[in-house]
Amino acid sequence: MKRKYCCSIDSVFKIILFLFLFTSVVSCNSGKSGAEAYKHMGISMPENASPLLKNMVLAFTSRIEKQSECKVSTGDAPFVVRLTLKSEMEDEAFSIEDIESDIIEISAKNDIGLMYGMGKMLHTSKFENGAFIPGTWRGYSSPVCKVRGIYMACHFNNFYEVAPVDEINAYIEDLAFAGMNTIIFNFPQWQYDSFDDTLARKNLERIKLLIRSSKNIGLKAGMLECENQGFKTAPANTRFVKYPDDLGRRGYLGVSLCASKKQGVDYLMNFWNKFLDEFNETGLDYLVFWPYDEGGCGCRQCWPWGAKGHVSISAKIMELAHTRWPECKSILSTWMYDTPEAGEWEGLYKALKNDSSLFDCIMADAHEDFPRYPLENKMPDNRPILNFPEISMWGLWPWGGYGASPLPARFHALWNQLEGKADGGFPYSEGIYEDFNKYMCLRLYWQPDLSAQAICDEYVAAYFSPNVVEKVSKAIQLMEKTHNRNVTADGKNVNIHNAADSVQLIFDLIKQADGMLNTVVRESWRWRIIYLRAQIDDILIQKKGRIEGEELRKAFNELIEIYHSQTNHTSKIGPPDFVR
Ligand SMILES: [Zn+2]
Repeated sequence: MKRKYCCSIDSVFKIILFLFLFTSVVSCNSGKSGAEAYKHMGISMPENASPLLKNMVLAFTSRIEKQSECKVSTGDAPFVVRLTLKSEMEDEAFSIEDIESDIIEISAKNDIGLMYGMGKMLHTSKFENGAFIPGTWRGYSSPVCKVRGIYMACHFNNFYEVAPVDEINAYIEDLAFAGMNTIIFNFPQWQYDSFDDTLARKNLERIKLLIRSSKNIGLKAGMLECENQGFKTAPANTRFVKYPDDLGRRGYLGVSLCASKKQGVDYLMNFWNKFLDEFNETGLDYLVFWPYDEGGCGCRQCWPWGAKGHVSISAKIMELAHTRWPECKSILSTWMYDTPEAGEWEGLYKALKNDSSLFDCIMADAHEDFPRYPLENKMPDNRPILNFPEISMWGLWPWGGYGASPLPARFHALWNQLEGKADGGFPYSEGIYEDFNKYMCLRLYWQPDLSAQAICDEYVAAYFSPNVVEKVSKAIQLMEKTHNRNVTADGKNVNIHNAADSVQLIFDLIKQADGMLNTVVRESWRWRIIYLRAQIDDILIQKKGRIEGEELRKAFNELIEIYHSQTNHTSKIGPPDFVR
């Protein structure tokens, strides 16, 4: 029997029966007719469910059980979510339908599609009075972009480098439920002496654990590296020649090598052979080659790097990867190409036209506007373009230091600059404070025509409650007005004072919403970073920008706990360390 939101006589009868007999179904308080509330539900998997699907189901049920008193079992229950594989469906798509009054079916062609369906159900459901109220979204959904990734940089002692692995794994599951299908990490060799360096081992083993657990829930995984970078012990005769960087936009972390002279190439090939061997057990689905910010060489043979050295050495490394994993895909990044103009784009296009086997995808983006060249010039052989939105650092110092940093209008506008030409991408992440921005990018990859408002509303309903959508969605959008801040040497915050009214309104809205949330949500890190952002800004206004006092110290300390950023003050990831 098909049913939308109305209680059938049958379901009412069942509710009454269970109320009396098992007290496992509680009365509906959702305000939506027919959306029953459950304290016991079942989940049924296809016969011969894969280990991946079982892991996904564990992630799904653990979220329901964490947020409510609802117990999830595989046996009889007053309400059942049935997972069904249907070979005729599109790859990664899912559908959610009512089968009977007490059975909802999530269908997909493959396990990962079922995971996205479970994510949709989680994000549209409610948790009230200890009960789970299944979401009422029904329909079919298929992702538009094929590569929906996140890049988690594991360096600077940031969240990904220091947080407990289980916490990061849970976060990766969250992102998969939001539509992510690929995750990439990086190994910061420039921080270490060798592969045997204790800290290098620690970093690599952590990355491998994260890759393994990502693959255990059906994600693709890869590494992003500046391919001409070595350990800090790399001999002087391997080193690069400084390239022109008139605008000072390309970072340099001290260990770039020449990709043309023999000593440099020998070092790099040796490094990459050993580096790829590290992943023999997990395998790699993607390698992303990064040109600058560190990386690059300005010698006569390598320059212009983006057209010559970067292309040739990345291609050589890709040959090493293909001997291990023939299916491994290559992505060439063009970050900071032609700043200033050096003919890098033209040179790259020429190389790509000459050799159709060079690179599976091209990644493009910039600190600000999306580069025009790949938009105005068709990519040779229609190689897909991926973006790399900088969601972590823009207008922030310290990164994440004041709590959540949602920028809905900015990332929506940057997405629109792509004119529908991207097939996905990898937002660049330094931590969890920009969780909203990740969600926004993942949702745009899935459904490119979503409005910023719609995504804000979805995010609030998904992670906090449908009951606070209006207030929190408005506050998140206002936070963009109060995002930019400059902290001067004397600790005075100068910018948010231009938006004092917004700061006041944001905190009022957040305090009102705080009183409407259940305890689990109210105490969750996602809510706390939003709350603390609102509170910190409000205190700063009252203190006329002076970063001082116990109230601020307490708020910053809570952020430090959430980010596990006790050890990374020197890199300025996390809250300011100069509270007076
Ligand atoms: Zn060189």
